[in-house]
Amino acid sequence: MPEPYDVLVIGTGITGLTAARQALREGLVTAAMESMFFGGLVTNINDLDGEPGGSGSDVSAGLMMEISQMGVKNISEAASAITRDGDCLVVKGDAGSHRARSVIIASGARLKHLGVPGEAELEEKGVSRCADCDGPFYQGKEVVVVGGGDSALQEALVLTEFAGRVHLVHRGEEFRAQQHLVDRLAGHSNIQVHMNTRVEAVLGSAAVSGVRVRAGDGVSEIACAGFFAYVGLEPANEFVPAEIARDAAGFLQTDEGLQTAMPGVFAAGAVRFGYGGMLTHAIAEGEAAAKSALALLR
Ligand code: NAP
Repeated sequence: MPEPYDVLVIGTGITGLTAARQALREGLVTAAMESMFFGGLVTNINDLDGEPGGSGSDVSAGLMMEISQMGVKNISEAASAITRDGDCLVVKGDAGSHRARSVIIASGARLKHLGVPGEAELEEKGVSRCADCDGPFYQGKEVVVVGGGDSALQEALVLTEFAGRVHLVHRGEEFRAQQHLVDRLAGHSNIQVHMNTRVEAVLGSAAVSGVRVRAGDGVSEIACAGFFAYVGLEPANEFVPAEIARDAAGFLQTDEGLQTAMPGVFAAGAVRFGYGGMLTHAIAEGEAAAKSALALLR
């Protein structure tokens, strides 16, 4: 039987890549497990807000290059379970089981769906999840963005570079996004903000043609060719054992050292309850989880 890894990191978004890099810097035998592409949600962003700046793809590719040169073992499989076997943890993947002395869950989060009629039916027919990737398809056209957080405002601002008009539809009276993003809205004459307004349906048959919205008792339609919902994130936690506590929305609970209720299993980044949401937090949590794993192993 092969020797167990010192650290097995599940997920290769910025948090997971940073955790793996820190573990390797500490001299630990480190594996990174990922079923899809490395980089996570940040690869959808061409112009990162704040440090370290640049494009999400460049930052994650740089980290991937670093950990490859440092000797990370890549496991291209989806994790489906974590169990304990004596002193070891066992992470089950598609092609086999992998033993490790510690595990860092950095599986991140996915964009939630709004869940209105027409959204699922028109996916990839005008319903999109990535402004930077799909923005050029909407050159000169009208698009609707839903939400009032950092994601909605950041992506609405990206879409102003392409769309003729961006309708930003928010259910609340105030945005919860960072003030600098709110301030930037004012500089774009092609953004129209609809506060206290909810989208009830995405309209269209072969492709998106509009949305039906409700503001108070009034129902109306906004014609559009593209629809982008940024209404929060849900944790990628399906493989996480029940003994690891979660909050009501499913985000994993940890102690101050980022250890979960399962000894030797840490959680960091967007999958964790209490994660701050900025890129700097992703990096700090990845490093902190690796340092906690090292302390435990020693
Ligand atoms: P979020 O902060 O949870 O905001 C979700 C938004 O969607 C809120 O405005 C919420 O409205 C609205 N919403 C939720 N459910 C809805 C529904 N059913 N119908 C209509 N509107 C709904 O999510 P996020 O913007 O994706 O951000 C997630 C995390 O990533 C945050 O921590 C954020 O700071 C971080 N982030 C940071 C950056 C950056 O640093 N530039 C960029 C993107 C994301 P209410 O306000 O009324 O609740």
